[in-house]
Amino acid sequence: EHLKKDFPLRQLNILSPAMAVHAVEDASFALYPGRATALVGESGSGKTTIARMLARLYEPTSGTLNFRGDPVKLGRGADLASYRRHVQLVFQDPFASLNPVHSIRYHLSRPLRIYGHARNRQEETEQILALLRRVNLTPAEQFIEKYPHQLSGGQRQRIAIARTLAVQPEVLLADEPVSMLDVSIRLDILNLLRRLKDEEQLALLYITHDIASARYFAEETLVMYAGQMVEGGPSEEVTQRPKHPYTQLLLSAAPDPTRVKSKGKTDLPARGEIPSLIKPPTGCRFHPRCPHAMPVCKERFPGRTDLGNGHWTNCFLYGDGGRPVASNASAPKT
Ligand code: SF4
Repeated sequence: EHLKKDFPLRQLNILSPAMAVHAVEDASFALYPGRATALVGESGSGKTTIARMLARLYEPTSGTLNFRGDPVKLGRGADLASYRRHVQLVFQDPFASLNPVHSIRYHLSRPLRIYGHARNRQEETEQILALLRRVNLTPAEQFIEKYPHQLSGGQRQRIAIARTLAVQPEVLLADEPVSMLDVSIRLDILNLLRRLKDEEQLALLYITHDIASARYFAEETLVMYAGQMVEGGPSEEVTQRPKHPYTQLLLSAAPDPTRVKSKGKTDLPARGEIPSLIKPPTGCRFHPRCPHAMPVCKERFPGRTDLGNGHWTNCFLYGDGGRPVASNASAPKT
């Protein structure tokens, strides 16, 4: 709730010590067992910072992290170890997340030992083989003694996923889990994550810059721009009836073979770059690119407007159930 993360720039002498990267501003959302939530946005939008705060690799500057309904006590120590057992992170780069000098047996036996899931070596071997089968690395006996360099990118990502499953987590944070893999195996890994989410009733956060895959993969979608959450709700709603001008821009850039090319003028926002987060635009950070921007957009960030069916947006164009509230701006086409 209301998560905020600033990274102070004290160490850079060229900048004022008071300056900071304002990476995430006032982010509130929930994850639920057995459901996947896609967190979508361009590079630099704050997606990975959110995942790292949830994994407690970064402590929030302010805001509250709740787990099973209770506020999480921040800081190091036993509480952190216990929390990490329940909330696991799959990293983007399967080539860097495994140690090249250790075998697959070693990688999977570590969490089993730390969290006491195996009483002896034979039991440990059986559990490692079972983990390899759960991520479709079969025959498992052929993989257990291999080293990371003997595996493909997709196989390494399956090992990284198996390693998180070894501690029986309740929350899985998958940070762009397929972006560094060949296109041909991305769907296999997404299907694997979806099956595990259903079987284990995992609360899954799927971080991606690809809004088209969010619709396929996740029940809910959240859209971020320059550290601010701008739209969210059921994936079908967000991707088929996008309201926020930035979500519309993202969708217009995503390949869609079923989309009919529109003729004539469009009111889509200008393509461009995410602004600097050291001195981000005031108010709605999207206002320099937004064709519907009004004076109020520069002054403050809009509150959340409920659009019905669980769909919401932070945009001054909407109010009172989704009807445009500003007389000097037309609602963007959907
Ligand atoms: Fe932001 Fe205003 Fe544009 Fe809505 S209309 S996206 S609040 S700049």
